Amino acid sequence: MKIASVEPFILHLPLTAESIADSTHSITHWGVVGAKIATTDGLEGYGFTGTHAHLPSDRLITACIRDCYAPLLSGEDAADHQRLWTKLARHPALQWVGRAGITHLALAAIDVALWDLKAKKAGVPLWSCLGGARTDRLEAYNTDIGWLSFSTDDLVAGSARAVEEDGFTRIKIKVGHDDPTIDVARLEAVRRRVGSAVRIAIDGNGRWDLPTCQRFCARAAGLDIYWFEEPMWYDDIAGHAALARSTPIPVALGEQLYSVDAFRAFIAAGAVAYVQPDVTRLGGITEYIQVADLALAHRLPVVPHAGEMSQVHVHLSYWHPASTILEYIPWIKDHFHEPAQVEGGIFHRPEQPGASTTPLADSLARYGQSLG
Ligand SMILES: [Mg+2]
Repeated sequence: MKIASVEPFILHLPLTAESIADSTHSITHWGVVGAKIATTDGLEGYGFTGTHAHLPSDRLITACIRDCYAPLLSGEDAADHQRLWTKLARHPALQWVGRAGITHLALAAIDVALWDLKAKKAGVPLWSCLGGARTDRLEAYNTDIGWLSFSTDDLVAGSARAVEEDGFTRIKIKVGHDDPTIDVARLEAVRRRVGSAVRIAIDGNGRWDLPTCQRFCARAAGLDIYWFEEPMWYDDIAGHAALARSTPIPVALGEQLYSVDAFRAFIAAGAVAYVQPDVTRLGGITEYIQVADLALAHRLPVVPHAGEMSQVHVHLSYWHPASTILEYIPWIKDHFHEPAQVEGGIFHRPEQPGASTTPLADSLARYGQSLG
């Protein structure tokens, strides 16, 4: 299974709504930026990271794949994912310019493609290749009903629809208004409508400071919030530890962390209760497993962030013993051979060989962007 070629690609896929916003950004498309790795025995592996579909920065990622990583992979055995990960991540010139950011997002795409190849070569879905399923019932939570840009009426209606028509028992709602009492009122309206049995998580996307978070948590104390995701700036370990000590609402974070070392620091500080690694920001599946094992060793639940819209995390969550539930955002489901699917609030377990990362040829043709 020698590597014959590495070809980057960029897809800009339209969202389910015309546009959505959280507390930090507004977008109309999701960027699927990755690599196709072909082997001498005729297999093709796909891996990708997720972006805001911002073409100039997407092209930095594909340039890194094409110009920096592809020459290091040429002729290598694609099965050697661990050695190849280290070869790329610890390459002196590349780690000098980036142990995070562009180089790591590109590394994520490569690593996922290598795992896709490994599972395809074995003729089994990734979860099976990793060691088999821990459960036959992976519960989903719906994020796509809870954007900050939705009016309170739309938020309440969407939440009710997700619960009553689609069978979700868990939803996530964005918070982060300048005036947090607006967020409390929105959450009260949803809680009144969906009842006490539905689990409601919230996500601040790092917008507020510590005193704002503490005031918000005091006001939201009676709403039975399942977790408060990214309350503060992503790298603020001391702030999250202080918040965790001051509120019974569990803190969730990790989608903006690039390394197992960053997760170790947050866990050591008692700053996180729900651990949220993402294969698209960590260096792929290889580093995700290290983070999930770290969480397991601390008896902390893992709830991945879906930068790949759960195409890969559905495998990892069916397999890794620290996994609990998984995020569902159906933005890219029409563009893959085996899209992540939820029915009655439960994720289908993938059955095709690979990591569910192979895009449809039609989608590549229609939504593919020039690499520049
Ligand atoms: Mg989030």
